[in-house]
Order: sequence, then structure tokens, then C-alpha cells
Amino acid sequence: MSKLNLQTLFRPEVLALSAYHVANAQGLIKLDAMENPYTWSDELKQAWLARLKNCPLNRYPDPEARELTTTLKTQNQLSDEIDVLLGNGSDEIIQLLLIALPQNSHVLSTTPSFVMYKQISDYLGLNYHGVSLTDNFDLDLPAMLAAIEQYNPAIIFLAYPNNPTGNLFDAESINKIINATNGLVIIDEAYEPFANASFMNRVANNVLVMRTVSKLGLAGLRLGYIAGEREIIEQLHKIRLPYNINVLTQASVQFALENKTVFSEQTTAICDERTLMLNALNSLTGVTAYESAANFILFKTPENQATKIFEAIKAQGVLIKNVHPQGGLLTDCLRVTVGTPSENKAFLQALESAL
Ligand SMILES: *Cc1c(COP(=O)(O)O)cnc(C)c1O
Repeated sequence: MSKLNLQTLFRPEVLALSAYHVANAQGLIKLDAMENPYTWSDELKQAWLARLKNCPLNRYPDPEARELTTTLKTQNQLSDEIDVLLGNGSDEIIQLLLIALPQNSHVLSTTPSFVMYKQISDYLGLNYHGVSLTDNFDLDLPAMLAAIEQYNPAIIFLAYPNNPTGNLFDAESINKIINATNGLVIIDEAYEPFANASFMNRVANNVLVMRTVSKLGLAGLRLGYIAGEREIIEQLHKIRLPYNINVLTQASVQFALENKTVFSEQTTAICDERTLMLNALNSLTGVTAYESAANFILFKTPENQATKIFEAIKAQGVLIKNVHPQGGLLTDCLRVTVGTPSENKAFLQALESAL
């Protein structure tokens, strides 16, 4: 290393970053990452393995993932003018969108919101702005419109439902933002399976909708997709790495989408548990849990105790997410993913004894 000067070798934006930290969940009940706790029946797994058996591992995957793309377009009832781009998780799509922007572009989202919007903007040297949500976690429309006016953002990210707050923003406010901007509006619908709302039928002009199969129950496969006007998607295809979706992911997601009923049953179970968990949380003294349209719940703990409570829950074998360090509206807040009934029970017991 003696001859290397990392300080001049790498861009200052990269040097300034702290790595995205993923907690080690070994041996813990994992309720930190919005994963679906359920897997498949042995019968379904057998059928899936039979499908994988025919995957030609010696060949590069279909660079356009045509079969899967067609399935996604059909299942989402997209018209011919709308195209779909696949990514290695929607994280990769966020990165692709931002890589495509000119230097000095501005990117707008909300605070709090999904951390990758800012993280990737920062290391690409783009100008990121997060407009604070209102006290009830909705869009501050006047502030958003003022930021659009001031920065003329190339891209606006809106997570719908929002992570980590779990709520759906007011749709009329989103419409006004769409109409006010000259840039792209990316509606990030990572939690659509748990929400009864979507902008998918609004995809046109500057509106794009991004989804992922991660929260649905296939986080290990890494597949996200974005739907938008053909001309926009075409530009993104140019900078996408040619074989970004591997052959096993293409085949597995295709198989999963042909067997969608499994997911609707699991999603229904998760939403039922969400209601029970919300009520259980709100029955605890000192805890305020917020309504969620996603598969997680954000809750507020007594002042200055979030980190202590988080650690005490972890010491009892349950890993959730401490969002208190993000500050602002998330001060004193923790986020828990809705798991199986027994996992949720273990979490609630751990929380109760931690309070
Ligand atoms: C989890 C999450 C993503 C990332 O999904 P992947 O497809 O797993 O990369 C994107 N957006 C939001 C809002 C999320 O919560």
C-alpha cells in the first residue's frame, strides 16, 4: 500500500461515504429488513427446481430477459408505449437513473425516505435535497413545490408507501408535484403488495413506477423493475450492464409470477398480522405505532430510550431496525418488519420487557 494515496486515487464523494451497514442477524429473529417470513411448500419447490434444472448455466443469460419482461408487462397491464427495464434489485435501477443524469443535476425526495436515493446521489456527486415531511409523515406540498421551483430537479423520488414511515402520501399532492416538475417522477412502489394503491396506471410522460420482488418474498433473487415511456427506458438500457439479470433469477421470478396465488395468500396473512401488531403496539404504555400500508410498522418509544430499547430487544434475540440515529421525525423511533405470528409475539414480549 506504501505507494498508494487513496486520498487522491478516489473521488472525494467516495472517500466521504460511510458504507451501507447491514446488521448481522445470525441467530436472531430477523425483523429488520422487510423480508417475507414465509417460503414455499415442498411441492412448489420441487416444481421450481425442475425448472432450474433446464437453465443453461454455461450460457450468458438473455440480455433483454424477454420472457420475464413480457410477463411483467402483461401482469401489470401495460400498454405498448410503456416499456420495462429490469435491475439487479430496484437499488440498481436507482443507480442507473442517477448515473444517467448530467453533472450538477439536482435530485429531490423527502426526509425521511429510502436511504439509497441520497446515498447514491452523494457518491455520484449530484445535489440531493430531502424535503421534510409534515408531522404526520405526509408530503409538505408547499415545501415540495418550492424546492421544485428552486432546484429544478432532474429526478424526484417518492416512495409509495414510504420507507421507513409506512404511509401512503396524499395522491393529490403527488399529482401536483408531477404537474409542477420538468423532471422525472419515480414512484417507488417497493411495498405495493401490501398497499391498496398504485400509480402503475398513471405511467406516462414524466411518471415512472418502480417495483421489486424483494418485499413480496423473493429478496434473495435481486429483481427490480421500472415501467416508463419507451423513449426514457431506451436511454437507461444503454447504460445498463448487458447481463445484469442472471439466468437463475430470470427463471425463478418467471416461475414465481406464474404461481402468484402463493404470494397473495402470504401477503394477506402479513396484512392481517400487521393489524394485530399495530393494536398490540398501541396498547403498550409509552409506545405510539403509526398506521402502515407496508409490511413493517414504525413506532415511537419514550424520549431518549430508542437505542436502549432496540439493544434490549436484540439481547432477547430479536433484530429490528433502529431509525432513531437518523434524527428529525425519526427521533425516538424504531421500525419492525411484520413476521410470522410467533415471531411477532416474540418481538412484542421482548419490547414489553424492554420498556
Ligand atoms: C427495499 C426498498 C427498495 C430496494 O429494493 P431491492 O429491489 O431489494 O433493491 C427500494 N425502495 C424502497 C422504498 C425500499 O424500501
